[in-house]
Amino acid sequence: MSALYGTYARSDLAFERGEGVRLFAQDGTPYLDFHAGVAVNALGHGDPHMVAALKAAAEKVWHTANTFTIPEQERLGQRLVENTFADACFFTNSGTEAVECAVKTARHYFWAKGEKDRYEIIAFTGSFHGRTMGMIAASGNDHYLEGFGPPLEGFKHLAPGDLKAVEAAITPKTCAILIEPVQGEGGVTAMTAEYMRGLRALCDKHGMLLILDEVQCGYGRTGKFFAYEWSGIEPDIMAVAKGIGAGFPLGACLAKGEVAKSMIPGTHGSTYGGNPLASAMGNAVLDRMLAPGFFEHVEKMGQRLNWHLQQLAQRFPSQVLELRGKGLLAGIRIASPVRDVAARLRDEHHMLAMTANENVLRLLPPLVVTEAEIEEAVGKLAAVFEAIEAEAPSKATA
Ligand SMILES: *Cc1c(COP(=O)(O)O)cnc(C)c1O
Repeated sequence: MSALYGTYARSDLAFERGEGVRLFAQDGTPYLDFHAGVAVNALGHGDPHMVAALKAAAEKVWHTANTFTIPEQERLGQRLVENTFADACFFTNSGTEAVECAVKTARHYFWAKGEKDRYEIIAFTGSFHGRTMGMIAASGNDHYLEGFGPPLEGFKHLAPGDLKAVEAAITPKTCAILIEPVQGEGGVTAMTAEYMRGLRALCDKHGMLLILDEVQCGYGRTGKFFAYEWSGIEPDIMAVAKGIGAGFPLGACLAKGEVAKSMIPGTHGSTYGGNPLASAMGNAVLDRMLAPGFFEHVEKMGQRLNWHLQQLAQRFPSQVLELRGKGLLAGIRIASPVRDVAARLRDEHHMLAMTANENVLRLLPPLVVTEAEIEEAVGKLAAVFEAIEAEAPSKATA
């Protein structure tokens, strides 16, 4: 019997080592990893540069409090600022803390300007912002809220995609809009560039802040450093995590200087956030990602994945209902129960894939995936669909 909380429906599978896009189970069986620990293992497993960086950092100071200067953190912040819309960063240990910091930053910005009642945030159905009390309220999903008492006040939820509905929901209390440019958990729904530009315009018109949650879709996942780049707009605040440490727990809240400036000593903090060890790993990730050609590779592999999935959709029109997502955050809405398909992929074909809401199979390979590995994965998917159709030929043609 396990000594752990029963919060996860865990498989018995345990992995011992990894190499690139492969994970090796305790009995040595290789698995093709299109799960990447929920979009975290951006550089795959056992990346030599990451391993060397971790060993080097282990020989130095692991941790000091944020009351001292942390040169590795200064450098990581500087590199993020140079490569994004932002002027300032706050480092966290996780995605949910990064979004939490984004919400606190937005509320405090208006409070410091004397607009003390302006704390409401428009967020969206189908979103996922993490599991703290604050962020389950921001997500607004009853499934996560139920049983935990009164939710944090100040979030209004709308279905994404309708700009008129957003404008109608704005009141003098509204301080910001919070959105994932590509909803991950909710069903791999990518917002259009037009919609993102529309949200930016509404924020400008009403003096509100645009907060992006790029915890899952950022850090190269869509083929650009951040997904907002596709729409040509800039947010005021952005939460990032997952790929930022490529497996080392790290997150960050990025903001424009004007917005971050009210976050003075005492307004926020974290014991571990951006400590020397975490920041060294964050810098090692950037060494790899900011190298010439990295994002171009992701964009190209995203296009190849999409092309192969289109072929799959043509071959199995009764199984593949819709292709979703962007780049290497791909969703396939399927006809068969998605949990069964993911379990068959894992148990019969030794491939790891994720699920998302709306019966969507979610593919998030490490960003270093090759086309041969993509073909292998899509071949395994085809084998599963073939077996399903063979078992129920009447259903497949219905
Ligand atoms: C995973 C995720 C979070 C929460 O991140 P944690 O590291 O689990 O706290 C928040 N927002 C989005 C979009 C995510 O995908």
